[in-house]
Amino acid sequence: MLRGGLSFARLAVGKRGGLHCRIPKRSYAALTDLKQLPQPGDKLHGFTVQRAKSVPELQLAAVQLQHDKTGADYIHVARDDKNNVFAIGFKTNPNDDTGVPHILEHTTLCGSEKCELIVLYPVRDPFFKMLNRSLSNFMNAFTSGDHTTYPFATTNRVDFNNLMDVYMDATLKPLLLESDFKQEGWRIGPENPAEADSPLLFKGVVYNEMKGQMSDSSYLYYIRFQDHIFPDLHNSGGDPHKIPDLTLEQLRKFHRDHYNPSNAKIFTYGDAPIEEHLSRLNDKLSGFERANVDSDLREPITLNESKTITVPGPVDPLTDKNAQHKTSVSWIMNETADTVESFSLRIMSSYLLDGYGSPLYQGLIDEKLGSDFSPNTGYDTSSKKGILSVGLQNVRKEDLKTVQEKIHEVLQSVHDKGFDGKKVEGILHQLELALKHKTATFGMSVMQGLTPAWFNGVDPFDALSWEETVSKFKELYAKGGYLESLLKKYMLDANTLTFTMEPEPSYGKSLTNEEAARLAAEIEKVGGESAARGGLVEQELKLLEIQENARNQDLSCLPTVKVEDIPREMEKKPLQHGKIGNIPVQWRTAPTNGLTYFRAVNTLEDLPEELRMYLPLFTDAILRLGTPKKTMEELEDMIKLKTGGIKAGTHVSTNHSNLEITEEGLVFSGYCLDKNVPDMLELLRTILLETNFYAVSKLRTLIQGIASGFVNSLAESGHNFARTFAAAHLTPAARATEVMGGMTQVRLISNMAANEVYNEALDKLRKIAEFAARQNGLRVAVTCGTEAVSDNEAAVQKFIESLPIAQTPTRDSPLFDFEAPTKAFFPLPYQVSYTSSCVKTVPYTHKDGAALQMLSQLLTHKHLHHEIREKGGAYGGGAFHRGAGGIFGFYSYRDPNVANTLKIMETAGQWAVQKRWSERDLEEAKLSVFQGVDAPTSVSEEGMVYFLDGITDEMRQTRREQLLDVAVDDIRRVAQTYLVEQAGKEAIAVLGENKDWVDEAWNVFPLSLDPSQSVPADDRVVL
Ligand SMILES: [Zn+2]
Repeated sequence: MLRGGLSFARLAVGKRGGLHCRIPKRSYAALTDLKQLPQPGDKLHGFTVQRAKSVPELQLAAVQLQHDKTGADYIHVARDDKNNVFAIGFKTNPNDDTGVPHILEHTTLCGSEKCELIVLYPVRDPFFKMLNRSLSNFMNAFTSGDHTTYPFATTNRVDFNNLMDVYMDATLKPLLLESDFKQEGWRIGPENPAEADSPLLFKGVVYNEMKGQMSDSSYLYYIRFQDHIFPDLHNSGGDPHKIPDLTLEQLRKFHRDHYNPSNAKIFTYGDAPIEEHLSRLNDKLSGFERANVDSDLREPITLNESKTITVPGPVDPLTDKNAQHKTSVSWIMNETADTVESFSLRIMSSYLLDGYGSPLYQGLIDEKLGSDFSPNTGYDTSSKKGILSVGLQNVRKEDLKTVQEKIHEVLQSVHDKGFDGKKVEGILHQLELALKHKTATFGMSVMQGLTPAWFNGVDPFDALSWEETVSKFKELYAKGGYLESLLKKYMLDANTLTFTMEPEPSYGKSLTNEEAARLAAEIEKVGGESAARGGLVEQELKLLEIQENARNQDLSCLPTVKVEDIPREMEKKPLQHGKIGNIPVQWRTAPTNGLTYFRAVNTLEDLPEELRMYLPLFTDAILRLGTPKKTMEELEDMIKLKTGGIKAGTHVSTNHSNLEITEEGLVFSGYCLDKNVPDMLELLRTILLETNFYAVSKLRTLIQGIASGFVNSLAESGHNFARTFAAAHLTPAARATEVMGGMTQVRLISNMAANEVYNEALDKLRKIAEFAARQNGLRVAVTCGTEAVSDNEAAVQKFIESLPIAQTPTRDSPLFDFEAPTKAFFPLPYQVSYTSSCVKTVPYTHKDGAALQMLSQLLTHKHLHHEIREKGGAYGGGAFHRGAGGIFGFYSYRDPNVANTLKIMETAGQWAVQKRWSERDLEEAKLSVFQGVDAPTSVSEEGMVYFLDGITDEMRQTRREQLLDVAVDDIRRVAQTYLVEQAGKEAIAVLGENKDWVDEAWNVFPLSLDPSQSVPADDRVVL
């Protein structure tokens, strides 16, 4: 198992960048031919070429250069891909927990010199301002443990150069003003400066962001584990306790010491010529002198003997209070610079941990020792030394010792039995398929795979050499006993760190007390509250004024692309439609690198209402329970050997012309090499028709795991749950989405987990299976190369014929009621909240849809970002319009001030009607919208909008023209019609801290997984 991107802005680590690739087009040879690229020793635009390498299996060539004057390190990856990527990164080892790299990442983006020189005052937040002056499909910044990276991706060449200028200026010459530091970092200010005795509190975007993170117990476990295994790395994101120790001077010094070209690594990718990049980069770099390089590669602790550490953590009111420990065992592994060994250890880790059939899943989770793996589980290669951890969450105190013993026992038994060759082959097959799978974001994947390695002393060219690494692994593996010897050397014979977080009922309280005491001490430092208040209020008002002025400032110093650069005609991907028997089949033929992508939707005709909410569980169960003839482990081994994966999910779609018409059902998908299509469909048939829905114990484990996953999702994306719940009151499709993926699901699963009743669910799943595994309501889509069509046709026909046809007459199945309150509140134990307010609008083909989409952009960028994030202190906030779903809404994310946010949302429509929108405003909104509309898509996604939602290319072309043609008057008109005139019809949902504004007007829904407090059974899902 590879540890995912669970922490703030930390990239998903360890993944081999998901190195997917595209088929070479005609210009491949020229573009990536080493002879066409600068040669080692060449001197060009102030750079010297150091080396070059061709990587044919990824259809790319890489060149490494050094900037002569400053020593800046630069890699260009040439590839026939118009989605060009740029990134500049700096090594930023933190020396304390104040979060200085993270706060710097935020403030860097607040303003830079270039603009100041031209227009005499700085453009505030050029980064956010550029978001709507660009056609980029990716713009962000990431603070990792020991480095900070600023990447973007765009298919537009002018845009690429514009953004590169802004990124270079923003990072190398930021203004780092005191007001930016206070806004983004931390400050003390009145909660509401307009009120005379509003309480003073800590404010600041990063401060609140990290406070939100720390209330997520998975994140807290992960970060505390990092503190102990990598104490020298500190907490680059910032510990809220320590953030207020940071001063502006220290921030500026950290910038001087780290953000200079000598300490920078620059990356470009794509089909743009390197010579162009070189000359632009040299212009930016040549004004700098050579400076210090932070080349320190931090080491983890040394384990001379095994160590055990226990720390306190919060009690999770959503899960069983007797099973709340998180515990893991960790090993310090290899030097990550040895890429072959890292690759081999990744195979070993995947063997031990991936899938329900893996030895550690079976040995620990199937044995009911915990609900899921701990957040740090997996093999992490993002630092100089690899770390492998195995652990569990939701462990009972009395089981802690058993968990540790069991981990060792499983490892010993894998070692003694030896690694199963078929399983290793399956893992390699999966990796190779991932390589063939063509994605639209290949360049970003290369960047994300390369960067952590590059900053940690791994030769970046080694990290790119896929084929070399795999063949070296195969050679070592063929000798026999190789993985066994690694397991013995790094794990069985090595010392460990056992790290446990134990629930402490007073934990939350002690955090609040600590913060209050720290606040009092800070206020004391400035002379006590009565003396300081005046100054703090004044500071707050001044900050507001600066922000207010910034909204109306002239942005003409910032570069921009133009709406006229957007082609009026959309790129069409022709589809063919046919039938096999009575089943409609959609074909998309395109170069796919020898892969076939299969999808099927079953609309489950006549499905009884009471089964609907069990559909998500059904999709999990068929990939979990196994069949009477084959265990899930055996099925998984086959899936790995024959396919790139099989998935099942729920499907909800709103009719393009009528919001009251909804299609619901299940969607199944998978991809594989063309020759394996019959095997893949046979596997799909097996799980659909033969799954053993009597496996109570396996279902129990599954449900416990889903329940603990929900706890994490609520903390991470509470705003999505708030949106889904609010929208559910407006359209049938939104209701179905809520029932199958919102708080209704959270409640259903939590209650099942708490009450330990599973037979009823198994009964429902058996009934669903009768609907899911039949031809009625089925339709199929296949994407493949022309050469594979006829074989695929035969395989799909065989698959369809293997499914039964039901003879029941079709009748209307009435939609379930959703007589829920329009103001819903879900108390959760977080110090921040998530809010959403939604209204119903129009279906996809209605002409107002385009203007509503623009309105959501305008409100987000011109109003809500400013009011909710900058002034309100929330981590995020904005408006959205679901074009295909007919819902317009607002949301806030990690919000400390919900009452204020709700007022802003209430008046946003009026604000938009009164605002004098300029042509420039509209131009920017159009650019932002088209970033999404024209973002490159993977070949496997082509034709899916039609297949899933019935939206044709003609409808999309019309919508495209409507979007391009929206006028200022349209914006005011739709704001009036859909927001102002629908006042009072909003549906609102809030998740978070229970405060005094939650009065009788609110319907409060407590959530609990604790059996002693759970909601009565008959009240389970009636929200
Ligand atoms: Zn941040």
